[in-house]
Amino acid sequence: MSGRFRLTAHLNRLINGLLVVAALATGCGMALIVRQAHEVSASLQLTLAQLPVYSQALRLVEAISAERGPTNAMLGERDGDPQALARARALSDERFAQLRQAVQGCPECSVTAEQVATGYDSLRQARALADQRLNLPAGDPARPTVGQVVNAMFQASDANFRAADFTLQDLAVRTPGIAACLVNTKLASRLRDTAGRLGSLLTPALQAARAPTADERELLQQTQGRLNQLVDLLRGNLEGAAANAERERFQQLRERYLGQGLEYYQQTLTALLAGQPSSAAAFARGYVPTMASILDLRDTALSLAEREAARLAREAHLRLLLTIAAALGILLALGTGLLLLKRRLLSPLLANTQRLLTLTRRHRPASDVADDEDDPRTLFAAFEQLERELQQADLLRQERDALIAELGVRAETDYLTGLANRRAFERQLAQGVARTPHYLAVIAFDIDHFKRINDTYGHPAGDLLLRHLAQRCSTLLREGDRLARIGGEEFAVLGDVEQPEDALALAERLRQGIADTPFAVGPTEALPVTASFGVVVTAQRQEGAPLRLLAQADAALYRAKHRGRNCSEVAEVG
Ligand code: GH3
Ligand code: MG
Ligand code: MG
Repeated sequence: MSGRFRLTAHLNRLINGLLVVAALATGCGMALIVRQAHEVSASLQLTLAQLPVYSQALRLVEAISAERGPTNAMLGERDGDPQALARARALSDERFAQLRQAVQGCPECSVTAEQVATGYDSLRQARALADQRLNLPAGDPARPTVGQVVNAMFQASDANFRAADFTLQDLAVRTPGIAACLVNTKLASRLRDTAGRLGSLLTPALQAARAPTADERELLQQTQGRLNQLVDLLRGNLEGAAANAERERFQQLRERYLGQGLEYYQQTLTALLAGQPSSAAAFARGYVPTMASILDLRDTALSLAEREAARLAREAHLRLLLTIAAALGILLALGTGLLLLKRRLLSPLLANTQRLLTLTRRHRPASDVADDEDDPRTLFAAFEQLERELQQADLLRQERDALIAELGVRAETDYLTGLANRRAFERQLAQGVARTPHYLAVIAFDIDHFKRINDTYGHPAGDLLLRHLAQRCSTLLREGDRLARIGGEEFAVLGDVEQPEDALALAERLRQGIADTPFAVGPTEALPVTASFGVVVTAQRQEGAPLRLLAQADAALYRAKHRGRNCSEVAEVG
């Protein structure tokens, strides 16, 4: 297999897969969170759509309760006002039409237009019964009693309360935040209806200007008991109510209806029982207006619920928008991050793994390569191989450096004496000129009649002499002086001196050190050897070519030879 390794191809697929899974998982998580926020928002929108239905349902029941007044008046045959009845019926019809329209406009609402229509049918039946009573002559066996009509009207109220109850249940479950207010609206509606019933139940006796019958009294008591229950429930709810407006309305209700209204009712009842009946119309005038305070409480609670629902819906909508924005932001950041991770890190890593495998494959047997391409251990083996090769390369580099250093030393060392050679001396000279703290002395010296020694004792003896002389001069020099062999039997010294005359003294010390003690290089006796010296001194850090100094020292040396050898000559600088 050439080109791409299967191992890196697998790794590439694996990484791509993991990145896609990470992106998808985050995407799904974000979608779930957004969906949840959307559901909360949608559910509050539904609440907003359903609240008008609830409100219309309550208004319809209110109208049906109100319709009982003129109906009862007509039934009483004394205070009846057909126009008032027609108006009351028209109002109920209008409210019914509005409720049906609201229900049709809310397809998600659990209450249906059919249910609403069924409820309203019971009102129609009650009306038909009332009309029957009004139209048939007294004594007709088919003529319903007042009690039957009143009862049918009560049933119509109950039937129409169902639409409100269904809707309330839906709303309270879906939006618990407004449940308390809504329950108060329902209690207030029931209270209004029950208060109306109390009046209705008293009406037959008032119409007939007689004391209520025992049955009527029992019904009145039952209704009053129911009324008290509702008031207790409302009080329980409203004492803990957060909204001041509701508590204020309840206080008004206590003053108006529970105080004035019920007192008026009691007075009327007491008067009836005492045989002093008042007219139904007078009772209605005194009693009915006080019930408005109950509706005020209902409307206040309803508008509180509507406002709270609208606020919750706005909040949920905002939260949905923020959630969408945050989710998009997170997805964008994650996508960018993953892309960068892939482009900047994973892909280069894979490419380099591929290069490493390609590099190390060359050094592995062909059979190995084919077998191991899918095995991650191939990669680890490649790393080990790379490590070994790097270590080897390191060793080689160290050897090379050592060799270069040795060559450098050799290039500047005289093979015979081990002293610095001419090349090294010239370099030292250049550096010495630049660095000397006071004066720099350059001394060149040459063995006198060296040729004779060679000629007399042979070349090896000459070599030996060169080595001995080098050694002796080294011992005669101070630390820091540099001695070099710059020609066959010519040497040179470089030394820092404090005074120019110290240079000549140094040359003389060397000359005497050579001349005073013969060298044991001959076959028998030691050989006396002399040398001639040329000296030059240069001032501190003087500009100029260092090689000229050597030439000047050489010239001085030449003069010493001419003067008769075994002496030192100082160069004439200038
Ligand atoms: P002078 O006093 O004028 O310097 O006389 P000299 O004989 O020393 O000078 P000359 O230049 O005539 O001879 C130098 C000799 O040194 C010639 C050469 O054979 C010999 N020589 C040069 N290098 C070496 C070496 O490395 N070993 C030996 N044994 N002899 C060398
Ligand atoms: Mg010589
Ligand atoms: Mg010479």
